[in-house]
Amino acid sequence: MKRDANQCAKSCEDRTPLSCASPGLRNCVILVLGFAILLSNLSHPINGQTRDSKPDGQLVLTGATIYASPTENPITNGVVVIRDGKIAAIGHRGSVRVPNGVATVNCSGLTITAGFWNSHVHFSKQKWADAANIPAPDLAAQIQEMLTRYGFTSVFDLGSPWENTRRIRERIESGEIPGPRIRSTGEMLLGFSVPEEILRASGTMRVTPQPVVANPGEALAASKKRLDPGTDGLKMYAASPFSPFAILSGEVIRAVVDEAHRRNKPVFVHPQSRGGLLAAVAGGVDVIAHTTPISGPWDESVLAAMRQAKVALIPTLKVWTYLLRDRASLRDQWTRTNVSQLRAWLASGGMVLFGTDVDAGMDDYDPGEEYALMADAGMTFRQILSSLTTAPVEKFGESGRLGRIAPGLVADLVVLSGDPSRDVRVFAAVRYTIRDGKVIYRAAR
Ligand SMILES: [Zn+2]
Repeated sequence: MKRDANQCAKSCEDRTPLSCASPGLRNCVILVLGFAILLSNLSHPINGQTRDSKPDGQLVLTGATIYASPTENPITNGVVVIRDGKIAAIGHRGSVRVPNGVATVNCSGLTITAGFWNSHVHFSKQKWADAANIPAPDLAAQIQEMLTRYGFTSVFDLGSPWENTRRIRERIESGEIPGPRIRSTGEMLLGFSVPEEILRASGTMRVTPQPVVANPGEALAASKKRLDPGTDGLKMYAASPFSPFAILSGEVIRAVVDEAHRRNKPVFVHPQSRGGLLAAVAGGVDVIAHTTPISGPWDESVLAAMRQAKVALIPTLKVWTYLLRDRASLRDQWTRTNVSQLRAWLASGGMVLFGTDVDAGMDDYDPGEEYALMADAGMTFRQILSSLTTAPVEKFGESGRLGRIAPGLVADLVVLSGDPSRDVRVFAAVRYTIRDGKVIYRAAR
């Protein structure tokens, strides 16, 4: 990884940022393509109480500050009652009837929000290979290290071998491994082939070569091939990260989008450049999976096109700082550009989804810096909370089930060790992660 970053930095050394969409950058770009605490035996004590819901399926969280949604005032000294995996009641202590003899977690001094979504992850690194046969404690540790310890109860995988990712999901859904809800696009649709040496250097799983999508017929066939086995959306590169940086034609993009939308599934795009971004937006994609640091600031024509298309943006600000961590000047320049693009998108009223692009090129999973960079772009803690909860459920059609804390909704919750309204990095300081009313992660204390 370090070597790849060095290669990237060196190759970029004598270039302007705009010309950095170069063959030399391709390693960096393609990388972006790219329990120990075996979950708490749920009968272990928490604060002297049992920590799972009892056979009657009830669990009570008391004493926390609760942000039921990004737009509501916080409930101080609040109570959440969970029954059979759903929110049964929420309110100020004293206003909520707490049943007797129910497992209770004292959350005084802590903050509760709805479970977080990370809308840009990957399960493509070699360590996820042969997921059906990874020993349960190891797989559980990997899931915890990357996702549940940071409060993610739902993730969208934007590029990995589907049959493998499906096995991870099955092992979670069967109850064998504690983990988040996983949605996946399967493998990406590309208008270019990836050189073998780059695949090798990226540390990603070896997969059978994917056909290059060069015309609408191939785009339709490739889209069907990915969606038929049950993926949850499609992901494409709008432009090649390699010379000659060709942009997908409007007809190709439209063929992909039409097939996904026919099945009510979203299309994500790696925009790569200004041209790629505009082509993707014109073609009707739903989610822009990165900003475009090589393109300079987004002007009003770009913002208007994005707004008109009602796309959502996943900024992924940290991944660039990570990939360029050994090249400070370029890293800082790109970060300024990324932050300015996000700030401009926010000012134009655009939707933002939280996402980090972990485990393609970045194996530093801590999202704290992402939150800090989002705040640098002007996002309030409520806007960041929205990008983690209500925005993704709206975009992915789950508003009736997830994304807020309200009676009748699924009990996916995060308990934070402080108050993110004071410091957004607290969004990364997770004490408990709760999915379907069960504690799937608790921090060691
Ligand atoms: Zn990615």
